[in-house]
Amino acid sequence: MFAEQTRVYAIPMHTSFRGITVREGLLLRGDAGWGEFCPFADYTDTEAVPWLTSALEAAEHGWPAPVRDRIPVNATVPVVSPERAFEIVRESGCGTAKVKVADPGSTLGQDVDRVAAVRDALGPSGQVRVDANGAWDVDRAVAAITALDRAAGGLEYVEQPCRTIEELAAVRRRVNVRIAADESIRRAEDPLRVAVAGAADIAVLKVAPLGGVRRALAVAESAGLPCVVSSALETSIGLAAGLALAAALPTLDYACGLGTLSLLKTDAVTHPLRPTNGWLPVPRTAPAPDALTEADPRTRDRWLSRLGRVTALSGHR
Ligand SMILES: [Mg+2]
Repeated sequence: MFAEQTRVYAIPMHTSFRGITVREGLLLRGDAGWGEFCPFADYTDTEAVPWLTSALEAAEHGWPAPVRDRIPVNATVPVVSPERAFEIVRESGCGTAKVKVADPGSTLGQDVDRVAAVRDALGPSGQVRVDANGAWDVDRAVAAITALDRAAGGLEYVEQPCRTIEELAAVRRRVNVRIAADESIRRAEDPLRVAVAGAADIAVLKVAPLGGVRRALAVAESAGLPCVVSSALETSIGLAAGLALAAALPTLDYACGLGTLSLLKTDAVTHPLRPTNGWLPVPRTAPAPDALTEADPRTRDRWLSRLGRVTALSGHR
């Protein structure tokens, strides 16, 4: 076993996100500190390999040197009422908010109302971005983006309006709102395709599915697009890796999606990486899980066996 120590967590979420209500994962410790291995349940063992590589980078090697010491982050607004959306943004203190849209549980009319409430909460100087997680076809995307852009008084960008790169490129030709690619940039060979296809203006980078901070930096360089670093709903331990990436990018023009601890009911550490007035500090290493409640034995066994299978596939020892 490569890790000197492992901990398994199961943390309830305040609001269902990406269809999950409990976030689970495994923390492992190496010579450099702690890493987080938390591929979602719908990821295959093969797809989970880069998540392990990322966790091991943190635990065994640490991260490249930062070029900035704090990172602007966006508030995250799930599918909630306009009143609740307004409160979330106001309580966050952030100048940028990302609103989940095109969810099966909401209509375009509700999305429009939620986006308008978020604009009210931010005021005219704030930035409103939306994330459709690939739910629209091209025509629906064009219609929805037009309506949401109007409700927002101008959107900063729309994230992954459609599923495929070809659809993203088609939408991008038909709207005046910037397109960000998220799900399309999960594999290291994809980003160049996204850029070459003219499919996006912005690349959303997530450390774990890209296989760590160094690999994500290489993806950023090859994509040649402005980048936004987002979390995969990790605890503070995984968020620290996202902050390390955001801190090491040569340029950072947009707020990052790393203020996601607010979606979890608890965290693994005593001093969580929660933003203050829309900013997060850049930690040198991931914090230790000194406030973690261990998951029940069955959950722990499930994660340890997943770790074993993914380790065998990865070639790590
Ligand atoms: Mg996204």
